[in-house]
Amino acid sequence: RAKSAGGDCVAGYDPAMLAGLVERLELEADLRVALTRDELVLHYQPTVDLRTSGIVGFEALVRWQHPVRGMVSPLDFIGIAEATGLIVPLGRWVLTEACRQAVAWGAAGERPLKMAVNVSVRQFEHGDLSAMVAEVLAETGMPAERLCLEMTESVLLTDTDENLTQLHRLKALGVTLAMDDFGTGYSSLAYLRRYPMDILKIDRSFVDRLGGDREDEALVRTIVRLGRSLGMTTVAEGIEDAVQLGVLRDLQVDLAQGFYLSRPLPAAEAGRVLDEGLTKLALAS
Ligand code: C2E
Ligand code: MG
Ligand code: MG
Ligand code: MG
Repeated sequence: RAKSAGGDCVAGYDPAMLAGLVERLELEADLRVALTRDELVLHYQPTVDLRTSGIVGFEALVRWQHPVRGMVSPLDFIGIAEATGLIVPLGRWVLTEACRQAVAWGAAGERPLKMAVNVSVRQFEHGDLSAMVAEVLAETGMPAERLCLEMTESVLLTDTDENLTQLHRLKALGVTLAMDDFGTGYSSLAYLRRYPMDILKIDRSFVDRLGGDREDEALVRTIVRLGRSLGMTTVAEGIEDAVQLGVLRDLQVDLAQGFYLSRPLPAAEAGRVLDEGLTKLALAS
């Protein structure tokens, strides 16, 4: 380590590593106050029914409006929030805000819109997740049936028995459960059968490859069949063009999200899209 190729490393430390550490510590300190200073904001990405082309719900995605750095992506702070335990208050804030918004939209329209919220495996480890969710539902007046919680396979891989208990309690509340980013981890049929998941979200990486290769199409078809055979609703994530949309329609995927349909939008814009529908879809169908 003392003799790196560049020769600018002093034994024991590397300036780039140190800069990374300082950045991380700064972000961590800032994140602690972000929650109390109203710096977090939710954007909402529509979920579209591929048969009717109608919006059936939204996924809430958190952003951080940092006073100096500008808009920070969740990819750059969720990991820090998880490592520090800040994910617990942050997760509660996200859930509360998303439910409030869903209730507000629900009252405006006739359709009972679904709201999907991402939960981290760490939220299962800190305290009683299902009790927290029940409290937020009561506080906001959100019907449990309209809430969907999205989680990755890590929830199914760690602390299995306790997490399974939590999942059953969430189901008992009436909440919908979605397996996010399916296909990226150790995805197996065994997990899907064992856990009470309602929705299978096909990871963007599979959708990305649609349009050229028949083998990629066969892979997505297999995942769709798997989901359907288990009685799950299928969702395709990350649709970026009309070709992908067409293939997924042909494969009879139930629901879709992606930049081609709509980017995640600030609440006011999402509300507008809800009233007006998505123009892209009108063209594509
Ligand atoms: P995710 O839950 O799988 O969310 C989908 C991500 O893909 C979002 O990124 C969304 O903006 C992006 N996306 C949607 N359509 C497209 C597309 O067509 N093309 C491409 N390239 N990307 C697309 P985002 O908002 O940056 O969030 C990244 C991840 O951060 C999320 O992945 C989720 O794992 C996590 N995250 C976001 N908000 C929360 C939150 O409130 N709580 C927790 N625990 N995690 C969150
Ligand atoms: Mg998600
Ligand atoms: Mg995902
Ligand atoms: Mg993800």
